[in-house]
Amino acid sequence: MTRGLTTPEYGNSLWIPYNTVTWLQHPQITIRQSTIDYITDKYVMFEDGDNLGFDYLIVALGVGRHAPIGVGAETRDEFEIMLRETHANIKAAQSVTVVGAGAVGIELAADVKEVFPDKYVRLVHSREQVLAGPFSVTLRQRVEQALVQMGVEVVLGQRVVKQRQISDDKDNLETAQLGGQISIANDMNCNRSARLPELTSAAVTNAELTLANGERLQSDWTVQCLGAQTRPILQLASKGLTGSDGIRVRGTMQVDDIRYPHIYACGDACSHSAVKLAGVAMHNGFVAARNIARCVLMGGPRAADTLLEQSPDFPAKILLLLGRSHCAMQVGDVLWDEERARQFVFEDMGLAQCVNALSLTSVPIATSPFDHPPSPK
Ligand SMILES: Cc1cc2nc3c(=O)[nH]c(=O)nc-3n(C[C@H](O)[C@H](O)[C@H](O)COP(=O)(O)OP(=O)(O)OC[C@H]3O[C@@H](n4cnc5c(N)ncnc54)[C@H](O)[C@@H]3O)c2cc1C
Repeated sequence: MTRGLTTPEYGNSLWIPYNTVTWLQHPQITIRQSTIDYITDKYVMFEDGDNLGFDYLIVALGVGRHAPIGVGAETRDEFEIMLRETHANIKAAQSVTVVGAGAVGIELAADVKEVFPDKYVRLVHSREQVLAGPFSVTLRQRVEQALVQMGVEVVLGQRVVKQRQISDDKDNLETAQLGGQISIANDMNCNRSARLPELTSAAVTNAELTLANGERLQSDWTVQCLGAQTRPILQLASKGLTGSDGIRVRGTMQVDDIRYPHIYACGDACSHSAVKLAGVAMHNGFVAARNIARCVLMGGPRAADTLLEQSPDFPAKILLLLGRSHCAMQVGDVLWDEERARQFVFEDMGLAQCVNALSLTSVPIATSPFDHPPSPK
């Protein structure tokens, strides 16, 4: 998405409608485009007031991120307009500030600097080193060095405590960051915006930022990349099931409450992995789907309980693409050198690999439904 904002032609290729995915056009698969309001243990409630009952459910709603990284568009047109407008704002800016040097903020700052080398690009981060998560000090140093080499000003150990939009007509859009959370003052619909933060933007033009040390910075285009939020969407009688790292799950991908063995949570939405990655999300989905198949074949979750498959723990992993010229990678505890990491770096940022892995343009080869049969007792 970061590359999509700086290079809209690339961004446009990221929108792949479900109705173009051949294998999804199956009489037993129904795709419904709708926004979920909340989920109980028996049905899914949509925003339009309709609801859908279920025997089994997989919650795979990802995490919420404010636009423009989080995508709130419902149609290709809306998506392309959002990309165009964001790109125009970045292009028109002389100075760009990215607040938050997690993976997204780092890649965005690098992409902006690479596409617009003459712009002044600043990356502000509250900690003494870039990048949160279980990664080595050396990786963090490498990333910081690469950013500096590219010409990004990296401001560490400084929290943005206030952000004020300067233009008169937009005073009501003033945003303030307090305690690491962004709050958008003109957004009255708190529940909906907590569920769908992508509907509000974390980017502003022409802002004044105040740092914790009192320093004030002017910035023509500013975006807050302060991490993702778990969506408060499950309405189950289960206290603490949804934490800051997602919906708590067991190794089987069932939610961690024995009262709801028919509800699964996968991918970014769940707490399964410390580092949220697309490959892990996919694998979670496979495990959940196979476990549901086992439950159906065995006559219910209780009967199938001891036969259910456990999802393995995956090592923490990250591949950061800093524009096209630099990358940094760590797998588990091992830091990869750039040359080795480059085998996973593609001009299209791996889009073709993802499209192939998900068979988005072709029909997957049929395999026997008994590839993963429940083993006999
Ligand atoms: C900028 C960026 C770069 C990344 N780079 C990498 C990378 O290089 N490698 C990697 O492995 N991972 C990367 N990730 C993480 C990766 O994108 C996620 O791990 C992956 O998409 C998770 O898949 P998911 O299916 O769990 O959730 P998502 O892909 O987020 O899908 C969730 C879907 O649910 C929909 N939804 C949410 N709420 C509702 C609702 N209320 N009603 C209806 N629908 C709803 C959303 O619109 C979305 O389509 C990156 C993420 C970002 C933001």
